[in-house]
Amino acid sequence: MSHTMLQLNGMHVKFEPGQSILDVATNSGIEIPTLCYLKEAAPTGACRMCMVEVAGARSLVAACSTPAAEGMEIWTDSERVHRARKLNIELLLASGEHDCLVCEANGNCRLQDLAYKYGIIQVRFPRSFHPHQKEEENPFIIRDFSRCILCGRCVQACNEVMVNRAISYGYRGSHSKIVAGTDQSYFDSDCVFCGQCVQVCPVGALVERKSRYRGRTWELKKVRTTCPYCGVGCQLWLHVNDEGRIAKVTAVEDGAPNKGRLCVKGRFAYDFIYSEDRLTTPLIKEGEGFREASWDEALDLVATKFTEIKEKYGPDAIAGVSCARSINEDSYQMQKLFRSVIGTNNIDHCART
Ligand code: SF4
Ligand code: SF4
Repeated sequence: MSHTMLQLNGMHVKFEPGQSILDVATNSGIEIPTLCYLKEAAPTGACRMCMVEVAGARSLVAACSTPAAEGMEIWTDSERVHRARKLNIELLLASGEHDCLVCEANGNCRLQDLAYKYGIIQVRFPRSFHPHQKEEENPFIIRDFSRCILCGRCVQACNEVMVNRAISYGYRGSHSKIVAGTDQSYFDSDCVFCGQCVQVCPVGALVERKSRYRGRTWELKKVRTTCPYCGVGCQLWLHVNDEGRIAKVTAVEDGAPNKGRLCVKGRFAYDFIYSEDRLTTPLIKEGEGFREASWDEALDLVATKFTEIKEKYGPDAIAGVSCARSINEDSYQMQKLFRSVIGTNNIDHCART
């Protein structure tokens, strides 16, 4: 046996030093269920869903936070593992108000998926009373603590991925809660409403306020696009309902450059596309007002005016400011137009929108 080999469900598999049991299983095509594991953050082993059996170990171990070791014999799907996972799912279901029918996460909830996968027909424990009020005071995010399973993914996303450090664990025992600042509302805390916590929440404890009642998960079509705001070019999924309206926006998990992250504008500020005030045709100023015009008429007018100004005052009397939201090719063409056609280096772009 090589020094980097172990046994996984009876198979001999190689691993790299530093990999966890979860990494080795994933690389070998074996699925170990997780609720708290967040790829970009340090594993915590908080949810206990990834428990596996290791020969010689006194108890089951968390696959996400246990390093793989030479000669280990691991069982990811044994009867004992199944029993532990089922118990865990039942305890989580009993810990709050997991009423799937009216939950926004219905169809996109890892707890629901696991309850189905492990055949949880009945929960043996009484449902706990949940002491914390729902928070609906801000325009972006609803926090429903009765559905929170305290997995900590939101805390890790806020602290380790976005480094906003707005939320953490608070209180103890049955009063445990994810708190913003000193248990303030998001609105009164240091939260910048990037919504990363919402993106990583595996259940319906954090949901986009605007997406409520705009369509169930299975009714929404995902369309990939580039964020229309700044020049970073973050990759988005638009979740579009059958009326053609955006129900919500999420980040593309593995897409460069944002790798699953978004800012408040990219995630929440898309309503402008439905604004009645949007310009849909060029406008030409006449007297005190504007009149609608065709693109041909408007472009001819601009070309004529530029030519007149250039002939009268020289090319440096003209300057161009291009839009930072434009794609590289458009920005290139803009500077080419100003330098080669108009003959001036007076060209810049607005750095921020
Ligand atoms: S919205 Fe962003 S800053 Fe606010 S709590 Fe969530 S992750 Fe942290
Ligand atoms: S709000 Fe969601 S992500 Fe945060 S601890 Fe609760 S269940 Fe986990």
